[in-house]
Amino acid sequence: MKTAHIPATGQQFPIGKIVCLARNYAEHARELGNETPAAPVLFMKPASSVIGDGEAVLIPAYSQECHYEVELAVLIGTQARKVAADKALECVAGYGVAIDMTLRDVQNQLKAKGLPWEIAKGFDSACPLSDFVPAAAVADPHNLNLKLAVNGEGRQNGTSSDMINRIPQIIAHISGIFTLEPGDIILTGTPAGVGQVCAGDVMTAEIGSVGRLTIPVA
Ligand code: MG
Repeated sequence: MKTAHIPATGQQFPIGKIVCLARNYAEHARELGNETPAAPVLFMKPASSVIGDGEAVLIPAYSQECHYEVELAVLIGTQARKVAADKALECVAGYGVAIDMTLRDVQNQLKAKGLPWEIAKGFDSACPLSDFVPAAAVADPHNLNLKLAVNGEGRQNGTSSDMINRIPQIIAHISGIFTLEPGDIILTGTPAGVGQVCAGDVMTAEIGSVGRLTIPVA
């Protein structure tokens, strides 16, 4: 079983579902040729896709193009069902750093056929995830710098202030569809600058005061 940790409080949560937003930063939607959506575009990763700091991403043999996407991760601490946006942040236990590993070639083939994305987004090791900091330690989750480097070379450098759908609206929307439970995680989308990694590369992802991940690609 995969676990989300908040070292500062000693809390641990068995990871439940991981609900992810696509196209939540306009510039990233444009770089992939997608329209900016009216409503959040959602998909899920299984808990089995999570790896921790220092563990390696293993690119499946059925892909030739694996991309990184650094994302702010939101850990749910209390059950939320049809929660209003103005109460939504009360459900958040903490914030962390995630990389939404994506098999772009496979995803593009699936998109062209109108098929779901799980095999492009949910394979084993597709969700590198840091420890979490308590929600109370993050003054403003919409004022965080998100960075990702490959082999020390900067590739993504964005700010969570550019999110199209903000965290209260995201939680309100998702909890109207899926009950959110303690240990569920939301990945809030990636800023521009996504690109490919290959075996032998090392990714470092960092989000402001929230944390940092070093993830090799095997
Ligand atoms: Mg993503």
